Amino acid sequence: MTELRIDEQGEWLEGVRKVISPNYDQRPDDLEIDLLVIHSISLPPGEFGGDYIDQLFTNSLDPEQHPYFEEIASLRVSAHIMINREGLITQYVPFTQRAWHAGESDYEGCENCNDYSIGIELEGCDNKDFTQAQYVTLVNITGAITQFWPKISKQRITGHCHIAPNRKTDP
Ligand SMILES: [Zn+2]
Repeated sequence: MTELRIDEQGEWLEGVRKVISPNYDQRPDDLEIDLLVIHSISLPPGEFGGDYIDQLFTNSLDPEQHPYFEEIASLRVSAHIMINREGLITQYVPFTQRAWHAGESDYEGCENCNDYSIGIELEGCDNKDFTQAQYVTLVNITGAITQFWPKISKQRITGHCHIAPNRKTDP
């Protein structure tokens, strides 16, 4: 894979698939981006492939397709990036904007992680390993992101389960 680059505005990865989610808003003015939150998602749970994650993040998931979708179809959620099992990237929200991935959360005493973080979803579930291709892409993306936002140090890359410990088990 060629090295990934973020555009000059800090909005989009260049040359990746884009599906624009309406589920974002402005970050607070006084906060810098200094945290990377890794998640995992699969829809339906434990199944891979399909367009269901795109549909969830664009509020177009059909609740009648699967019993689980009934529970989640009305959620308004997003992440900046999703990496599928083949290691391919989709970007949904410009990095400069606040995506809605972390929910109620806290990192080292700082609440509402969405305000100051970038959210990456790996297509996966708690009881299956991620693929080698996903790790390769994740390393590549993390390199591009930390180069652009150097305040995201190694210590400031975390899992959803660590910022919402009683609520979340991913990635
Ligand atoms: Zn999560």
